[in-house]
Amino acid sequence: MNIVYSEGYDLHLGDHVFPSVKYRLTKEKLIKEGWARAQDFVEPEPAADNDVALVHEQDYIYKLKHGTLSYTEILRLEVPYSRELIKAVWLCAGGSILAGRLALEAGTSVNLAGGFHHAFADHGEGFCVLHDVAIAIRRLQKDGAIRSAMILDCDVHQGNGTAGIFGADPDVFTFSIHQERNYPYPKPPSSLDINLEDGTGDDEYLAALEHGLVESFGRFRPDLVFYLAGADPYREDQLGGLKLSLQGLEHRDRLVFERARKYNAPVAVTLAGGYARHVADTVLIHATTARIAHEFASP
Ligand SMILES: [Zn+2]
Repeated sequence: MNIVYSEGYDLHLGDHVFPSVKYRLTKEKLIKEGWARAQDFVEPEPAADNDVALVHEQDYIYKLKHGTLSYTEILRLEVPYSRELIKAVWLCAGGSILAGRLALEAGTSVNLAGGFHHAFADHGEGFCVLHDVAIAIRRLQKDGAIRSAMILDCDVHQGNGTAGIFGADPDVFTFSIHQERNYPYPKPPSSLDINLEDGTGDDEYLAALEHGLVESFGRFRPDLVFYLAGADPYREDQLGGLKLSLQGLEHRDRLVFERARKYNAPVAVTLAGGYARHVADTVLIHATTARIAHEFASP
C-alpha cells in the first residue's frame, strides 16, 4: 500500500474550521483499524521551487516565501500566514508529486493531504495556498512520466483554481461535481461541471456522478487520474449543503476507482476538504477512501 504522509503536513491552523490535525488522525485511524501498516507510509520531500513555478507565478511564490503577501491577499486565503504554513504546503505539493509517481507504479496511491483546488497561478484562496495537484501534473509531464491527466474533483466546492489553471489545456481534463449554491463565486468552467441542488442525497448524487464519469472517460483517456476525495459532501459537514451518508461516500469512492480501472487509468488520491461537526467523521471518510484505494491497487 502506498500512502504518502509526513508529520509536517499539519498546517498549524490552531482553532480553525479547517481541521489540519485530520492528516495525522487519518494516519492513526488507518493503523488502528488494521487498514494499513507502518511500512505502508512513505515520507515525501518538499516540492522544489522550480516545480512550484511550473504552475504558480514567480511574484506569488516570492511573496509566499518572504512573507510579503498583502493584508487582502492573506484575507483571501482564509488561513493565517505563517512559516509553518508555507513549509507544510510545499511538503503537501511534494507529496502529491510522489503520490502521482507511486500510482503509476502500483495502480493507486494516496497522499494523506493536498487537493488544494482553490489555488490559482497568481493567488491562493479558500484555505488553498499552492495547487499541489497541478504542480504534480506539470512535474510528471516534464519528467515524461505522463502526457495527459484527468482531475476528478468530488469535493463539495467547485474546483475553481483547477479550472483557472488548466483552462483549455487539451492534455488535462477537469471534472467537478459540487453544490451549485456554495463557494466559490464565480465558478470558471471545468471540462465538465455537474452542479447539484442544495440537499442532494446519496441516490441522486451517485447517479449524477456515474453519468459524469461515463461522460468524462468517454471524452478523454488520461495517463493518470488525480481524485480529489473531499469529505465535505457529507450531510454533517459545516461548510457543505449536500446530504451524503457515510455509506454514500464509500459508494462514491468505489464508483471512481471502478470507472478508472475500466479504462486502465492509475489513480492518485488527495484528500481535499472535510469540515464535519465531529472531526472523527471526516477522519473516517478519508481513511475509508484510503482503504478502498488499496483494494483497487494492482495485485
Ligand atoms: Zn471543499
